[in-house]
This record gives sequence, C-alpha cells and structure tokens, in this order.
Amino acid sequence: MSLKAYQRKRNFGKTAEPKGTVRKRAKRKPRFVIHKHDASRLHYDLRLEMDGVLKSWAVPKGPSLNPADKHLAVMVEDHPLDYRDFEGVIPEGEYGAGPVMIWDEGTYEVMDERPGPEALEHGALKFKLSGKKLKGGWVLVRTKWRGENKNWLLIKEKDDAAATRGDILKEEPNSARSGRTMEEIAAGG
Ligand code: MN
Repeated sequence: MSLKAYQRKRNFGKTAEPKGTVRKRAKRKPRFVIHKHDASRLHYDLRLEMDGVLKSWAVPKGPSLNPADKHLAVMVEDHPLDYRDFEGVIPEGEYGAGPVMIWDEGTYEVMDERPGPEALEHGALKFKLSGKKLKGGWVLVRTKWRGENKNWLLIKEKDDAAATRGDILKEEPNSARSGRTMEEIAAGG
C-alpha cells in the first residue's frame, strides 16, 4: 500500500486535499466514502478503507440500486485515509480541479471468505455498505483476470436495499456530511 502515485499528482501547496500517510490497520469497522466530483466530467469516486489507505475507483455513472445495472468502476491510485473527510474545491489548474462532495459515507464489511486485499487481488470483492444513502450488498468484479486491467464493474446485489425504479443520484443529490449542494460547495459556502 503506497500513496506515492497520489502524492506525485498533487501540489499540496495549492490544493487543500490531504497529503496523508499510510495508517496502521484499524480494529474498528472499516469506513467507506463516495465522493461526487465535478472535474472535467461529473463522476463519483468509491473509496473503501483497506490496510491503512482508501482503495479507490472512479465510477463515471455513479452507483445504481438496480442489480441489473453494471456500472464501470475504474481503479485509481490509493488515497490517504484522511481523504474521507475531504469536501471542498480542488483549485483550477490542479489535478482533478473542481468541487468534491462527500455524497455518502459510513462503514462497510467484506462479505468474502478471503480478506479484502486478497479478494481484490482475485478480481472480485463482495461487501456490505452501511451508509447514509447506500446499504446492503454490493460487488466489485474485475472485467478481466489478467494483466494491468483497471476496469471493474460495480453491481448492487439483490436484497432489501436494491431498487429497480428511481435514481438515488437524483433523489439524494446533496452532501451526506454537510447537506450542501454541489453549487454551494463550488461557491465555497
Ligand atoms: Mn474523482
């Protein structure tokens, strides 16, 4: 687990994002956060605490409660644990410039027989979210077994928290942390 790729991309003299360090593995339940990030394109970033960092995926379409939806989730560099508290604006000219919202947050449990890092290594992770918006079972599946493939699919499992109608992204657009809208965050309010 390393934050080198994360730190290389950012100028911490200019952005308020945390520089971060790799933390010791915690005994409490691991946390997750989903950032809504209006960079060059609006997308969502799913981050799961694992071995002292946040394993991270950019999800262009965001999560869906419909188990029939298989949304692309591109694995990106590990982020520091402190990043789960980041809500604000990445300044113009910096990596990922634009407003970042804590769209959802909470704890999660790995539902695999193997520990999380091993499950990821094998290209499939089942987990259960206890967030403010997202709950129940989810799966991340790598689209190919071999090579340097960063493409995964994020899929809702069929359970009580699944829904085949509606769009949680539109129904619950604001920050789970502060209640702010994307516009309010962009304006620095
Ligand atoms: Mn992002």
